[in-house]
Amino acid sequence: MAFDYDSENIFAKILRGEIPNRTVYENEHALAFEDIRPQAPVHVLVIPKGPYMSLDHFAQEASPEEQAGFFAAVGEVCRKVDVSHGFRAIANARLHGVQDVPHFHLHIIGGAQLGRMLP
Ligand code: IMP
Repeated sequence: MAFDYDSENIFAKILRGEIPNRTVYENEHALAFEDIRPQAPVHVLVIPKGPYMSLDHFAQEASPEEQAGFFAAVGEVCRKVDVSHGFRAIANARLHGVQDVPHFHLHIIGGAQLGRMLP
C-alpha cells in the first residue's frame, strides 16, 4: 500500500522541537520519551526520526541503518528504565489498530504487573 505521512502530527512536531518532551534516550535515528498519559509506572514511546506513519511503513521502507538505530534505542530504553521484571511493547497500527498519532511509535509499558492480553 502507499503510505501517506502527515508531517503535522504531534510526534513530528516533537521531533522538530516545536513541542517539548521528556526525553529518555536519543540517537541518530530514534527518540524515546515519556508518554504524556502513562498507563503504568513505566510508559515510554520510542519513535524513529524518519517520516514513517506506522509499524508496517517503517518495516517496509526504512533503511537497515534506521531500523538498527530504532532497535538500539529500544535496547537503551530497557537499560535505563525499570523493566527488570519484564514489560509489554505495543505498536498500534492505523485504523483497525486504533493508532491515534500517525507517526510510528512503540509503547514500552512496565514497572508493575500488567494484566493478561489476548494475542
Ligand atoms: P497510539 O494510540 O498508539 O497512537 O498512542 C499515542 C500515545 O501518544 C498515547 O499513549 C498518548 O498518551 C501519547 N501522546 C500524545 N501526545 C503526546 C505528547 O505530546 N507527548 C507524549 N506522549 C503523547
